[in-house]
Amino acid sequence: MHEVDIELVEMTLDVMKYAINRITDRSPELGRPKAAEELKSLIGETITEKGIGGEKAFNLFKDVLMKATVPIDHPRHLAFVPAAPTRAAIMFDLVTSASSIHGAYWMEGAGGIFAENEAMKWLVSLTRLPAGAFGVFTSGGTAANLSAMVTAREFWRAKDESHIGEKALMITSIGAHSSLKAMAKVIDADVLLIPSEEELKGSQLQDAISNLTPHQRKRLFAVVATGGTTNAGIIDDLSGIAEVCKKEDVWFHVDAAYGGGALAAPSVRPLFNGIEQADSITIDPHKWLFSPYDCGAVIYKDPDLAKKAHEQEGSYLEIFKDEGARGFNPADYQIQLTRRVRGLPLWFSLAMHGTDKYSRAVERGISLATATGKMIKKRSKVELVRAPSLSCVLFRRKGWSPEDYRNWTYKNHKEGIALVTPTKWKTKDGFETVARFCFINPHTREEDIELILDTMK
Ligand SMILES: *Cc1c(COP(=O)(O)O)cnc(C)c1O
Repeated sequence: MHEVDIELVEMTLDVMKYAINRITDRSPELGRPKAAEELKSLIGETITEKGIGGEKAFNLFKDVLMKATVPIDHPRHLAFVPAAPTRAAIMFDLVTSASSIHGAYWMEGAGGIFAENEAMKWLVSLTRLPAGAFGVFTSGGTAANLSAMVTAREFWRAKDESHIGEKALMITSIGAHSSLKAMAKVIDADVLLIPSEEELKGSQLQDAISNLTPHQRKRLFAVVATGGTTNAGIIDDLSGIAEVCKKEDVWFHVDAAYGGGALAAPSVRPLFNGIEQADSITIDPHKWLFSPYDCGAVIYKDPDLAKKAHEQEGSYLEIFKDEGARGFNPADYQIQLTRRVRGLPLWFSLAMHGTDKYSRAVERGISLATATGKMIKKRSKVELVRAPSLSCVLFRRKGWSPEDYRNWTYKNHKEGIALVTPTKWKTKDGFETVARFCFINPHTREEDIELILDTMK
């Protein structure tokens, strides 16, 4: 028998009560950051030799620290890419932690990995990649992109011995996510950015490749298209790009970290045609598939190529690859060894709700964007910069300077109304600062949007 530790029991009840309250709160207080020195003066020393006790630490978290965070699932948090994890997924995130499952190898994590893979099969089916395609959950889109890029480069090196020792070159567009450029640094590859104003077209890619010097052409190891730019929701011409990649025999990666959720939305699915020809795809369930942080995914047309690139060798790891542990080892397909079975919350939520509900929830984000476009057209002080795309709306307040947008953002945040941040949009004369909404949360209401537009008077 365990000795009953009263403090532990109380702490457990407090934590569970807090968790239940938080996930049922549809409109949590919109917190704001404070300077680290200010937080320190409010919190004092929390890491001490004897400990300060669970109750005190938890109260400090609730009363001070939480208030210095922005609840990403707030219905009027429309900045960056918001998130709106389902209650089921959040509760199962607690279960995932409580269950202590090691998600690297089947030998230890079989049951958890099996469930993750069931969710993965659904994701893969959305892409319509050919049979044999499969993927693995990662910490996010950055890790997924990196895992795909490493795989692509290993494949390119294996194709031709003379590629070994050459610096690899990747082509993408200016709309591509910053993580691709950052991860190119990690693998020490060069990036060529095509200055496409709207979606990147196959013909533009063909021109860019034709303009490469013979040495650059030799170094070209991958093309990355975006399946929903983070800034504006623009989907590149995936079938045109796929065709060029096929003709040129170059790896085709689609970064759909944000937009990938919309593969489940029939109203926009045709925009993604061509994605089924990709060699690899990134999708972030923690963005538009209602998973808690963090959960990304990388999918490969030929997972064996990923295994060739990522499988780790080590004397203490041999046992995990034993025939007795036959099964799928997530560690072999992406950059991380020890890993959380972070696809498990998605699995539970999908199993509970069914995929139709997911489709409807994603469609809701798209229809909020369309409805917002109509609201903007009805108002005289604001105008659309471009038609809403996926769940992104770019619009301008006529006559506003970048500073006006900044002040507007801070004022709304300070008053607890909303967090909406400006962005930049490329025009003929450079970059213009404009306002941007990104809808993920199906509980955002039309009234929330009108309320925010009213603050632009
Ligand atoms: C968010 C995003 C990423 C990065 O994903 P993280 O999960 O933040 O690492 C990559 N690509 C695109 C298109 C994104 O929107």
